[in-house]
Amino acid sequence: MYDCETTEMGEAKKKQQRHRRVMQAANGCIYCAGRRRAEQVDHMPPRMMFRLGQRPKGLEFPSCGPCNQGTSRLDVAASFMARTFPGIATSADSAEWDKVMSEVHRVAPDLLREMWIPPHEMRQAMWSEGIFDRNFAAFRADGPIMGAYMQAFAAKIGFALHYEATGNFVPRRAECRCDGSQARRCMAVVCPQPIRQYWDARIMQQGKITSQGNFEYGWGTYLESPDVPLYYARVREAFAAAAFVVLDEGSLPFPEGELATFAPGDLVMPLSDRITAG
Ligand SMILES: [Zn+2]
Repeated sequence: MYDCETTEMGEAKKKQQRHRRVMQAANGCIYCAGRRRAEQVDHMPPRMMFRLGQRPKGLEFPSCGPCNQGTSRLDVAASFMARTFPGIATSADSAEWDKVMSEVHRVAPDLLREMWIPPHEMRQAMWSEGIFDRNFAAFRADGPIMGAYMQAFAAKIGFALHYEATGNFVPRRAECRCDGSQARRCMAVVCPQPIRQYWDARIMQQGKITSQGNFEYGWGTYLESPDVPLYYARVREAFAAAAFVVLDEGSLPFPEGELATFAPGDLVMPLSDRITAG
């Protein structure tokens, strides 16, 4: 008993030291490009995204309070999506599903309303898929509100992995410059198909716990625009997201408006003006 407690104390202390190092190394918050001081450690991906909370350590980022709290609603939406495929297998999964759903209810009631499908439509949808199990539920995950949340989460992945890969944050526009040539943006896309064939996927690892199959990530360049850094993550079998960091939207081979654009600090802004009519 005593040993166990000592170990737990040791772990807590180590974690505290690790977090202090994360913040000391930083020149400010990575999500708002140092506009505010780093006061907290943001876990990207969030712990909530991992089954049974088994998140290996690593990918911990210096964040200010407003960015840490302001992006937690994105973490909740993405954690919900992460649990959709594969879905519930055990009673522990079921309990965690309920917990995530109540978080969605708390931080994003608009999202919950969008996802809700009336019971008769749900039955019809499932019958058409050949599902007759009462334990199954269907919900709408392709609505514009979910789209806005997921794009913002993809951008969050971009801000975090850019820092992980380069040690620098996506810089904001230099305030003394008027021409905007120093402006950098994170352009995010949620991809239906993984695009990781361009590089090797990395995993998080802590002893025997790894993120393999739950969260894989990487960075590299996009073949069509080799000068633009690309950051990528794949979450279970549920979704993949990619983010580019660009000076100029014209350097990417996508039609204007196809990718969501976020400048440092934008992640905490309301998503309402990003929601397109669905
Ligand atoms: Zn910040």
